[in-house]
Amino acid sequence: MTTPLLPSKLPSTGVSIFSVMTRLANEHGAINLSQGFPDFDCAPELVEAVARHMRAGHNQYAPMAGVQALREALAAKLERLYGRRYDPATEITITSGATEGLFSTITAFVRPGDEVILFQPCYDSYAPAVRLNGGTPVFVTLRFPEYRIDWDEVRRALTPRTRLLLLNSPHNPTGTMVSADDMRELARVLDGRDVVVVGDEVYEHILFDGRRHESLARYPELADRSVVISSFGKTYHTTGWKVGYCAAPQALSAEIQRVHQFVTFSVNAAIQHTYAEVVARDPFAEGLAAFYQEKRDRFLRLIEGSRFRPLPCQGTYFQLLDHSAITTERDTDFALRLLREHGVAAIPTSAFLQGEEPGPVLRFCFAKRDETLERAAAKLRQV
Ligand code: PMP
Ligand code: GLN
Repeated sequence: MTTPLLPSKLPSTGVSIFSVMTRLANEHGAINLSQGFPDFDCAPELVEAVARHMRAGHNQYAPMAGVQALREALAAKLERLYGRRYDPATEITITSGATEGLFSTITAFVRPGDEVILFQPCYDSYAPAVRLNGGTPVFVTLRFPEYRIDWDEVRRALTPRTRLLLLNSPHNPTGTMVSADDMRELARVLDGRDVVVVGDEVYEHILFDGRRHESLARYPELADRSVVISSFGKTYHTTGWKVGYCAAPQALSAEIQRVHQFVTFSVNAAIQHTYAEVVARDPFAEGLAAFYQEKRDRFLRLIEGSRFRPLPCQGTYFQLLDHSAITTERDTDFALRLLREHGVAAIPTSAFLQGEEPGPVLRFCFAKRDETLERAAAKLRQV
């Protein structure tokens, strides 16, 4: 019996850059500021709450769309924070991380031949999910160093085949955020078109310098055509628990749930019960923005005097650093040399780009203990 060798469905896709850099960081004993995750633990009460819910018997399948208490807590949060009422019974779906939310949403709406507008640099899971469904990603580039949306370019990218547009704010990897003007422009550009907007809003609570998150849920004319996706992993320092959600009008949610039920069916019950308590108690993740702003500012202070030049970071837990004063190497080559020779792992932004030249910038995750940031910065000052 020989193993059938079928052509790959994602022939040009290798192992995710996050897995690659974390593996290399571990192999070389480098400080890992590459993959985005905290190197400190979540609140111990969260772990205890999961154990309590397991002891209470929440060990069988949760409802397909999610635990009711969690959907209610999220509906209350979304209404208070963004002013849109989502019906917890029909308009919220709990998913296995934002990743599954994105995948199920894209799978629900994208057919062969459809086009999906993606702003790049963009998170690595978007384009493969589009391609697996026979769709074509149409990239609109956010250009170094401003990374602003050029709405004329969006207008040119739209065709009768455009089915979906995906907007990520606060933005990974650049740390930029869309403005209220961007949202109004988005509504104008899509007026009269059958295009679903997908908002990747996983960093919705990690905002700096008093900024406001422009959720799609705030804009009724957009929210009516939008799927708002978020993740508890970033907000509660629990990236490994992989729970997120999609909020969307009933007609869109019904289609997402048709897919979700066959991708995972349902998500870890005890963890959903835990988040239901946490979101009801602390819907806006009080203190999280200040916590990460302090980390960002500490990291920036610590690298003062280095030859890295920071770009503005408005939200997320990623800082872009321009290395043009150090080297003319490509970002991928420099990232490898930085890891091997200087012992700091970062992500080259070209990993988030296709067919465009990257800027001379690497992405550094500052969701790290102060001591980790100090050790990393001491090395960066020597480069
Ligand atoms: N979107 C963006 C922009 C992200 O940075 C991440 C973080 N991994 C995700 C989606 C995926 O989130 P999750 O871990 O909840 O699947
Ligand atoms: N979102 C994280 C990042 O951007 C990593 C997610 C992953 O490892 N797939 O680094």
